[in-house]
Amino acid sequence: MNHEEQYSRCTLLQHYGESAPPEGAPAFPLFQNSNFLYPSHEEFVEAISNTSGHSPYIYSRIGNPTVDLLERKIAKLEGAEACRATAAGIAAITAVLMDAAEPGAHFIAEEFAYGSVRQLCTEVLSKMGVTLTVVDGRRAENVLDAVRPETKLIYLESPSSMVFHLQDIRRIAAYAREKGIRTAIDNTYSTPLFQRPIEMGVDLVVHSCSKYLGGHSDLIGGAICGSREDIDRISRGQIHLWGNIMAPFPAWLVLRGMRTLGVRLRQHQEASLRLASWLEQHPAVESVNHPALPTNPQRELFLSQMSGAGGLFSFVPQVQDEARLVGFVNSLRLFRKGISWGGFESLALLARVAPSWAPGGFWLVRVFVGLEDEEDLQRDLEQALEQIRPS
Ligand SMILES: *Cc1c(COP(=O)(O)O)cnc(C)c1O
Repeated sequence: MNHEEQYSRCTLLQHYGESAPPEGAPAFPLFQNSNFLYPSHEEFVEAISNTSGHSPYIYSRIGNPTVDLLERKIAKLEGAEACRATAAGIAAITAVLMDAAEPGAHFIAEEFAYGSVRQLCTEVLSKMGVTLTVVDGRRAENVLDAVRPETKLIYLESPSSMVFHLQDIRRIAAYAREKGIRTAIDNTYSTPLFQRPIEMGVDLVVHSCSKYLGGHSDLIGGAICGSREDIDRISRGQIHLWGNIMAPFPAWLVLRGMRTLGVRLRQHQEASLRLASWLEQHPAVESVNHPALPTNPQRELFLSQMSGAGGLFSFVPQVQDEARLVGFVNSLRLFRKGISWGGFESLALLARVAPSWAPGGFWLVRVFVGLEDEEDLQRDLEQALEQIRPS
């Protein structure tokens, strides 16, 4: 639809691909069916041999109209030729790594990339001789210097979701392209509204739809975006064969969640940035990791490759005593205790990290600012921070 080309992404979130909903229904229907029926044997045979050029629906493991609409919408938003929805974000990551794996292949990953990257490489892909180098991706040189003749994949997560470090996407993607190395990035933190890696030269973008895209803490799902050729190959080799597909109902929920993605992100961003700035001044706080803070040492890079940041950030408390930190987290009333993020509910997660640049490790508190009233959230943090006020 040509007139859709002129619309901004927040408009596309509402209407893209949905210009003729059946019976005037404003929401696209949930096609909750496994197979598709044909009036005659001949028409079924024609469909399955797919001679007409467009592929008709036959079986929902291979294609389903509700899942298809989600895939077209995400592809459009990411500026990608194609998208495949998967059963989970982790399934999208696994498919991308499996696709690049071959005997003796070498991968490079940002050290704070989602944990399953390291686990899949060291526990599964190592059996076919795949090796992984993890690097502090803040310096692009660390990534480029790790490249070897057998490097097949550079895997990024910018910003990463514990310390929110950025990688120089354009520079790394350009170098990799020159060397014939595939690049992939986890774009869950930013969503296509805040960062579009394909436009910066990255080959494959993965998402966990369980976070912002779904947005209501009520589903698990994932997606991979890339060229038509890459997505077709990954679908055939990694998705269809493993049954690693998104079911129609979660796809319908993601479509529904995405309608409010723009307004939700705006609210998450405003509230989290104000709370992060306030925390930065608080005596109990050593430092705050939030990509959009003016004090972020990677400010220039943030401005050059992202157009916003959402509700997720972390801070390092002055007090590093575990018992007192547990006391702080347990004193929070509005901030719930749990993993995941990207829903409506604010969350606090106490975690110990031990990156290459701080081998002894340290405690941080990862905060997700949900959709509750910002002043209520600040009051909640304020009373709980009394537990860890330095004496
Ligand atoms: C949650 C998450 C994943 C994994 O997604 P699931 O849908 O839980 O499988 C991957 N990457 C990031 C950044 C995440 O936050």
